[in-house]
This record gives sequence, structure tokens and C-alpha cells, in this order.
Amino acid sequence: MKVTILGSGSCVFSLKRASSSILIETGSTNLLLDAGTGCTRRLLEKGFRIEELDGIFLSHFHPDHSSELVPILFSLKYGNYSNLKDKFYILGGSGLKAFYENLTKVYGHWIDLEGKIQILEFDKNNSEKFEFNDITMSTFPVNHRPESLALKIWDNKKTFVYSGDMDITTGFEMFIRNCDLLVIEASMPDNLKVKGHLTPEIAAEKAKAGNVRKMVLTHFYPQCERKDFLVNARDIFKNEIILAKDLMEIKL
Ligand SMILES: [Zn+2]
Ligand SMILES: [Zn+2]
Repeated sequence: MKVTILGSGSCVFSLKRASSSILIETGSTNLLLDAGTGCTRRLLEKGFRIEELDGIFLSHFHPDHSSELVPILFSLKYGNYSNLKDKFYILGGSGLKAFYENLTKVYGHWIDLEGKIQILEFDKNNSEKFEFNDITMSTFPVNHRPESLALKIWDNKKTFVYSGDMDITTGFEMFIRNCDLLVIEASMPDNLKVKGHLTPEIAAEKAKAGNVRKMVLTHFYPQCERKDFLVNARDIFKNEIILAKDLMEIKL
């Protein structure tokens, strides 16, 4: 599995950090985790063609995670791609079908992909594992928006978890237990915590409690760009901590 950070930023526009988006490539499955503003530019910079995508998982519907869903669908329909897949999946939490239907009320057939779109809406009370192409996944509701889900992927005996946006969530330590790579949000420095989000210190406590092997922090507001950002986190979590950068690749 290859994990590419396409956007390590937040809702604040930045040339350095696109909004939230991660590309997962397993060999036969290519999945976008969130499609925040700027992610399509990053895919181009990476040399990845969007026709190779199997789908998009939306951790929640905030625009810094979902705003480029519509341009991607529009481009897939009218961009003259030669190798479009038979199906295009949109995965997410409760309300996803209504979210997509409301988009089609605005954009109509411009984004319908002529029947190829498959909506997979996950009930937040059901964390059962499911198969998606060659990978196994499961979701876990996190404290941010009612539809917010973290996602776990198993591939080739490795496990990966993406938190999406979250505040402190009971049971998250169990969901991330022993995972090889955790990409988790740390939106603000330790002394500037805001409701709905984590800080590096809290993320480190979760990663330690979950016995995570490696942690990548992401979803940075501009206040995060300071030298002491990781001081407390490094005291707590002794395994590797990486600060996400756009276009960073991590192989598992
Ligand atoms: Zn966000
Ligand atoms: Zn959010």
C-alpha cells in the first residue's frame, strides 16, 4: 500500500498545503480519502490520472474535505478519459446519499457518470469489516460531525487508519490498536485547542494508548507552523512522528 498526502492543510487556503486529501494505492485499488480544495492539482503534480480512481471516501462533508468531489465527477464525465472504470464509488457516513442527491439537484446530469456511481453509506453504529476490491476496510464514528467516520484499511498484512477531522473520541484507541500507520489530525498547537479538533499532544496520547507503530499528523492551520509544535507529543509517543507535507509518500 502506498499512502500519498495530497493535502495536509485545513480550510485556510495555502500554496504550501492543499486542503485534506490522501491517495491510497494498493496495486489494484486507488482510493481518494477526502477531496479537499487543491487535491486535483496535487494529483496532477504527482502524475496520477483521475480515471484511475476507484472512488472517493468522504470522512465528512465539510468543504475542506469534499469540495473537489464535484469537479472530479464533472471531469470524469466530460474529460475525454479513455480508461474509465465500470463503477465509481463514493463512500461515507450517514447522509451521504442525501448529500449526493442534493448535489445532483444543483448539477444534474453533469455529475451523474451515467449510472457508474455507487454510493456506499455506512451506518455509524456498524463497524463491521467490508471488502472493497482487494482491500478490507472498516469505519469508526468520530466526534466532529454527525456523519464523521475514521477509516481503517487492511492490505497485505498492514493496517492503516485515517482519522478525518476529530475531537477526543471514546474507543478510538481500540480502533487504531496496533496499526502500522495512523494519519491523524492535529489542527492546532497544544495551547490553542479548539472544539472539534485535536492537538499533537492529544493525538500522541491516542497513538500511545493504541500502540501505533508510526503516526503522521495532518490538517494544519497556519498556527501549527512553529518549531515547538511537536515538543509535548514527542515526550508522549516514542515511535516515529511525521509532520505531513503535500505530496509526501509513505509505503507500507
Ligand atoms: Zn477539516
Ligand atoms: Zn471538518
